[in-house]
Amino acid sequence: MRIVMIGSEAWPFAKAGGLGDVLGSLPAALARNGLEVTVVIPWYTGIDAEPAGQVTFSFEGRADTASFGRVWLDGVEFLFVALDDFKRDQLYGYDDDVRRFVRFASAAWSLAAARAPDVLHLHDWQAALVASLRESSGVRMPTVTTVHNLGYQGRLTPAELYRWTDVSPELFHMAGLEYYGDANLLKGAIVYSDVVTTVSPRYAEEIQTEAFGCGLDPVLRHHAGKLRGILNGIDTRKWNPASDRQIAGRYSATDPSGKVLCVRALQKELELDGPILGVVSRLVDQKGIDLVADAAAALVKAGWALAIVGSGDSGLEKRLSALAQAHPGFVAFRPGYDEMLAHRIYAGARGFLIPSRYEPCGLTQMIAMRYGAIPVARAVGGLADTITDGKTGFLFEEASSAALIEAVAMLSSADLSRMVRRSMSADFSWDRAAAEYFELYRELRASA
Ligand code: ADP
Repeated sequence: MRIVMIGSEAWPFAKAGGLGDVLGSLPAALARNGLEVTVVIPWYTGIDAEPAGQVTFSFEGRADTASFGRVWLDGVEFLFVALDDFKRDQLYGYDDDVRRFVRFASAAWSLAAARAPDVLHLHDWQAALVASLRESSGVRMPTVTTVHNLGYQGRLTPAELYRWTDVSPELFHMAGLEYYGDANLLKGAIVYSDVVTTVSPRYAEEIQTEAFGCGLDPVLRHHAGKLRGILNGIDTRKWNPASDRQIAGRYSATDPSGKVLCVRALQKELELDGPILGVVSRLVDQKGIDLVADAAAALVKAGWALAIVGSGDSGLEKRLSALAQAHPGFVAFRPGYDEMLAHRIYAGARGFLIPSRYEPCGLTQMIAMRYGAIPVARAVGGLADTITDGKTGFLFEEASSAALIEAVAMLSSADLSRMVRRSMSADFSWDRAAAEYFELYRELRASA
């Protein structure tokens, strides 16, 4: 069975968050099950690939062309579409992001159509246009869209839609692509895909409610029959304290003694005293890191030290830097994206804070558990699906610093050695998720 996946990140080539982890791991897990998987992402600066051909596609009313590169990794074909709009320092955050990804999606659709896969699998808003392009073209091809985060949808005016793409005006109506007068790319993908998956079962339920639906809950309720939650896994080879070379000591559930070395090394590196609560996060409203900042003084008073690495909102970065200055020896903040430091924090932390306002799946709690750092997290989305309250972590309901502080107090008084053993033994490998996607693809092919 042949699958083409389209998205905007794939580890180890490009990653800004969990989507990169997923497109870096799921395809290889599927390939181990005998599937032929091609993953198409933009050719960002710094990706080293062999030139593999040219693709012609329609953009701005003319035939556009792009070269593409190829790398084979773990039995998966990765294709990188070379467009000048992607030769920049960052993956996202530019005023023309929607146009850039519309152009990428147009090229990716052309590549995918030429391969005639059994199933087309789109990820998030950056690839979402492809569903509407396929619908407009009249080509029948079973299509799955995975929503990794409903908070990002990709909106443009109808004038831009028609100027840039070949999407048929027949799709622009209330039950189609149209959304309050704009075109909404993710809405189009929900409407024109056969199946829509979310990255946890709980999130599939939540997004049908007004509180979590980001304005699309009526659409999702209407299409509830095609919604399915498949919990992400983590790359258990990359995230493995028993073999991780980035950390000061190796350890496992059966022999956790090496963790002490990692704790000491992190305390020394960040000049912290006492047991550490870790945070590895994008600094955006969704993640609730403002609640950590609100709670910091109380947590320090309770004897904890905080080790935070994160990038994003500049106001929050300033606030965390100020907290580090105000609590030397007890709050350390490293702004930026630092994969290696993340490993050291997971390994050196006793607890791990994830007070998300919403969380489609969340990978950091699974990584933290694997490294024996007990997650203290809000009971939403994938956090609630992966953490067993009181057994492998602590969950709290309310998005407030008081609720966070109370949950950390539970951690302080817990029998940690049993919890660490349990959380380190939990199975978060991709094999289970890959089996579920495999079954979904098989069903779709059978009904095509
Ligand atoms: P999201 O995709 O919403 O950012 P996830 O929990 O699904 O959140 O995935 C986050 C991934 O990105 C994890 O692998 C985490 O370790 C990594 N990560 C997030 N922020 C940073 C950072 N500042 N430095 C290093 N790694 C980070």
